[in-house]
Amino acid sequence: MRHTSHRLILATLLVSLTSQPGKAADRGALQRACFPATSLAALGSEVKPVKGAIGSAIAPPLTVALAPAVPLPAHLRGAIRRVELPKGQKLIALTLDLCEQPGEVAGYDGPIIDYLRTSGTRATLFTGGKWLMTHAERAQQLIADPLFEIGGHGWAHRNMRLLSGQALTDEIVNPERAYRRQRDALAARTCAASHSAALASIPPRMGLHRFPFGSCNKAALDAAADNGLLSIQWDLSTGDPAPSQSARAIADAMIRNAKPGSIIIAHANGRGHHTAEALPLAIPKLKELGYQFVTVGELLAAGRPVIAETCYDSRPGDTDKYDFLFSKRPISPGAQSNGWRPGTTAPVSR
Ligand SMILES: [Zn+2]
Repeated sequence: MRHTSHRLILATLLVSLTSQPGKAADRGALQRACFPATSLAALGSEVKPVKGAIGSAIAPPLTVALAPAVPLPAHLRGAIRRVELPKGQKLIALTLDLCEQPGEVAGYDGPIIDYLRTSGTRATLFTGGKWLMTHAERAQQLIADPLFEIGGHGWAHRNMRLLSGQALTDEIVNPERAYRRQRDALAARTCAASHSAALASIPPRMGLHRFPFGSCNKAALDAAADNGLLSIQWDLSTGDPAPSQSARAIADAMIRNAKPGSIIIAHANGRGHHTAEALPLAIPKLKELGYQFVTVGELLAAGRPVIAETCYDSRPGDTDKYDFLFSKRPISPGAQSNGWRPGTTAPVSR
């Protein structure tokens, strides 16, 4: 019974979030009308983050009005790590984070997106709010693409364990405003004028988000849930923010650790150091093994989410180390209990 109620509530939530299969053709036509293949193609100059530049001067588009959010029910207010699927289903969700921190314009790893398009691989992209504003054209291309689902990743990649009150709410909600701004800009293009069905199929809000650094606490989880956002983590880390992680190691991690219902984390902001070379190694192999790549929304709709009370990478407490990036004093006993000390390991930006 509980299983059934989970499914019903999730199904209701997800209907408004996910692209309906029947609309994919419409979305494809919209994308072709607005973005010729040459404009979609990767540019080498976009891949790497640029420090300084205009990255600090971008303000959230506060004038964008959002439709009222529907707070999540109690049983969906944790960190979703994976999805339990009916026996025999081999669905898997690849997620790519597009993190952008203060004082930079992050990258757009076009070769990754190009590969997903040519191989027809569905994925969920967790976009920073500021990233959406500094990459308006790329953002609109991704929003128009029926292959992808768009989620939020904080306004400027702040550690939400260290925020509270309005600052916490702003960090979570302002990406929704940025998404809405780009969705509206896409809709206002002349090329979109005759594609009203496709535009209507694009979710008005993102509905999913991922905590920067994979770090949260109860207040942050509640703030997301109060604003109607499912907090999506992962059970399979590629380790791709580490420059030393080779393409082969990333691919092996994906192939070795994948199981039905897995959510994989990688990066497409120029800090997934060998991800573009790794995906063509891993994805065909996983498909050969019978896995079907779906979006997180589709994965959730197919089964029952496995929800943790807090956020972590591979074990509880292991993302608390990121507190030291912003504060000299750890705010959680877990930050010390996992053995990490400032300076002993180079923290990576998730
Ligand atoms: Zn991130």
